[in-house]
Amino acid sequence: MMRRLDELGAISDQRDSLTRLYLSPAHARAIAMVRGWMQDAGLTVTVDAAGTVCGLLPGTDPRAPRLLLGSHIDTVRGAGKYDGCLGVAGAIAALELLRARGARLSYAVEVLAFGDEEGVRFPVALTGSRCIAGGLDPAALDVRDADGTSLAQALRVFGLDPDSLPGLARRPADVFGYLELHIEQGPVLEAENLPLGVVTSIAAAARFAFDIEGQAGHAGTVPMHLRHDAFAAGADFAVALRRIATAAEFAVATIGRATVPDGAVNVIPAHFAFTLDVRAPHDATLAAVIGQILEASAAIEAAHGVRIEHRRTHHAPATACAPWLQQALADALARAGQPVKYLPSGAGHDGMAIAPLCPIGMLFVRCRGGISHHPDEHISAEDAKIAIEILADTLQHLKPPETQA
Ligand SMILES: [Zn+2]
Repeated sequence: MMRRLDELGAISDQRDSLTRLYLSPAHARAIAMVRGWMQDAGLTVTVDAAGTVCGLLPGTDPRAPRLLLGSHIDTVRGAGKYDGCLGVAGAIAALELLRARGARLSYAVEVLAFGDEEGVRFPVALTGSRCIAGGLDPAALDVRDADGTSLAQALRVFGLDPDSLPGLARRPADVFGYLELHIEQGPVLEAENLPLGVVTSIAAAARFAFDIEGQAGHAGTVPMHLRHDAFAAGADFAVALRRIATAAEFAVATIGRATVPDGAVNVIPAHFAFTLDVRAPHDATLAAVIGQILEASAAIEAAHGVRIEHRRTHHAPATACAPWLQQALADALARAGQPVKYLPSGAGHDGMAIAPLCPIGMLFVRCRGGISHHPDEHISAEDAKIAIEILADTLQHLKPPETQA
C-alpha cells in the first residue's frame, strides 16, 4: 500500500509538487491507477458521473445492505500523498488482506474514491460524496474555476454527464454505513504516542469577518488614555479569544488573516480587519464559545471606545460519528491489544456529506509532526500496517443491522 501511495503521489498537475485538482488531467490518470488497484483486488469497477471511482465486492448474502468505504483522491496545491489517498488505498488493502485470509463478508462492500473533497478548483467541496448522498445543490453546476470554466462544462470535457448527477444518490435502505480511514492531520496521536484514534465527530465550524473601527490620530501627539486604537482593541480580542477557546474542551479559534488597512508607521490605526475561524466537536459547544467571544468583543468595544462589527461567512454543523461504528473500531483496537483513543476531527471530511445517507465512522492514523496539506506529510509503514489490520478486523466483525443479534 505504501508503494501504491508513492505511485499515486507522483501523479500531479504540476511538475515539482503534488497538486491534483478535480477533473484535471492528473485526476484522470489517478482514476485509471485506482481502477487498476481495485480490479487487482477483485472488485467490479465503475466511474460515476461525478468522477468517483466505485469498486464493488459482493457479499455472501445478496439481500444485505452494503457498507461504503472510501475517501478522496484530489489534493490541495503543494499537497502530501496521504491525505485522502490513504483512505482509498487502505480500504483496498484491507479487502485484499481479507481475501488472502480466505475471509468472505456476508455484506457487500463498495470502495469509493471521490474526486473532489478539497474544493480547490471550484468554490464547492465534497462534490463526489454529496452526489452519493443525494445532497448536491444543482446550483453548484454553475460555479466556475479560476479560468471561467463551469463545473458542468468541466464534467463534459472530462467525458461525464452532469445531467446524470441527481441519479447517483443511493437509497438509504441499500447502505448500512460508511467507514473512512484518514490521516489525523493534527499532532494529538503523535503527542500521546498512539498509532490510531477513533473519531467521535467532525467538528462544527463557523467563520467570521470582523472589522474594528477606531479613530486615526498622530502617533506622537495623542496620549495613550485618549486613543481609540483599532489594532490595540484587536490585540485584546486575540488574547480573549485564546482564553475562551482554551477553556472549552476541544474548541479551537484562529485569526488567520489580519490587516490594518491604509496603516502607516506614525498613525494610530483607525481600522483593523481580521478573519475568525472557530470550531468545536458539538454544535452547543460552538454556540457557547461564539457567545463568549461576542460578549468579550462588547467589553473590548466599551473599553477602547471603538466599534466592532462582524458577519458570519460560513457555518457547518457538527457531524457525529455513529456510536456503534465507533464501538466496532474500538473493539478491533482492543482485540489487537491497542489502546483506544477517542478524538474529534477538527478538519472536514467526505463523511460530512455522506452522513445524511447513513451512519459514518472514521479511524485516524498518526501523521508525523501533525503536518498535512504539505509535501512533508508522512505516516510510517508500521502505523499503516496496523491501520489496515484494524480496518480488516472491523469489517470481519461488523454485522449489517438486520442480522445484528
Ligand atoms: Zn482529506
